[in-house]
Amino acid sequence: MGRKVVLTGMRTTGSLHLGHYVGALKQWKQIQDAGEHECYFLLADVQALTTHADNPTLLSRSVIDVTKDWLAIGLDPTLPNVHFVLQSQVPERYELSALFMMIARYSEVIRNPTLKTELKRQENASMGFIAYPVDQVADIYMVNPYPIEEDDEVLVPVGEDQVPHLEYARDLAERFNNSYGPVFTPCQPLVGEVGRLVGIDGKAKMSKSMGNSIDLSDSAAVVKQKVMSMYTDPNHARVDDPGDSENNPVFMYLRAFDPNQEEVEELADHYRRGGVGDVALKRRLVGVLNDFLEPIRQRRAEYEKADLGSIIFDGSHAARQASIPVIEAVRQYMSLIIP
Ligand code: ATP
Ligand code: MG
Repeated sequence: MGRKVVLTGMRTTGSLHLGHYVGALKQWKQIQDAGEHECYFLLADVQALTTHADNPTLLSRSVIDVTKDWLAIGLDPTLPNVHFVLQSQVPERYELSALFMMIARYSEVIRNPTLKTELKRQENASMGFIAYPVDQVADIYMVNPYPIEEDDEVLVPVGEDQVPHLEYARDLAERFNNSYGPVFTPCQPLVGEVGRLVGIDGKAKMSKSMGNSIDLSDSAAVVKQKVMSMYTDPNHARVDDPGDSENNPVFMYLRAFDPNQEEVEELADHYRRGGVGDVALKRRLVGVLNDFLEPIRQRRAEYEKADLGSIIFDGSHAARQASIPVIEAVRQYMSLIIP
């Protein structure tokens, strides 16, 4: 039987939000609990520098914030198959990244749709940013089981925006294997039911950088205030007006988080016919989100005194151990050896 590995991660650029949860963390937790995979969860501090190099204090604080968010939602690094890896602490990863840069082509990276969208929001993108789709390929394959076996699996649970990157990571693995020799198991993306959660402003994606998020660490009062200010259907001015329940962020969140989906669909029917007010709808959502977040808040408090340093040290060490045979094989195949 082949070996099963998960590599996935988050940039350490601030606290995590509901989008991170439905897009990624929910799947991570399910995979962790099923116990079939060796899980490497990456705190991507190097990738955070691609956009935040001018703010190192934010980055070091965010390593702690993201780690606490992960613990709070139930990821458990005391399990033998779960590792929290700090990206900068695996030096072999830089080497693998530099070597993938040699077989990646500028023309194909620049065509990547996610990169294109993100570049539009940045006037002075760093070289590191432009190259991140390739750098990320090294993250994935540094823990690739080596030597490869037939049924090995490298699984990458992510939100929808990451899918083009993962297709590219598959292409690069195949290119390497065809040019040099069989080192990599092309990775498999795994996207959850809600691949992309919209922001509270109704914009395409809930995002730290867009200031339209509800954070996993928000208090009950903050959640209430944010939900009550949420964008709904601008044409639903009076309670009796028919409303749009499909492109309405409040309904999108109810569909993602409300345990009673039957009632949500009845409410949606009623909203479409007219007769349901936005305030009532939002009150329901406040309750649903605070019920969802309460156990997360409690678990966060329990971990207040946890030794995060040793969790991260151990996890990074495990990734490093896994990366050594991979990078040695790559060096051999690319003839980077003393003659
Ligand atoms: P932000 O845009 O909030 O700054 P980010 O996209 O930089 O966050 P990443 O670290 O790149 O955060 O993303 C971590 C994971 O969370 C990825 O798998 C990404 O697809 C997923 N993700 C982030 N935001 C959302 C969202 N709004 N809906 C679904 N998945 C999301
Ligand atoms: Mg991102």
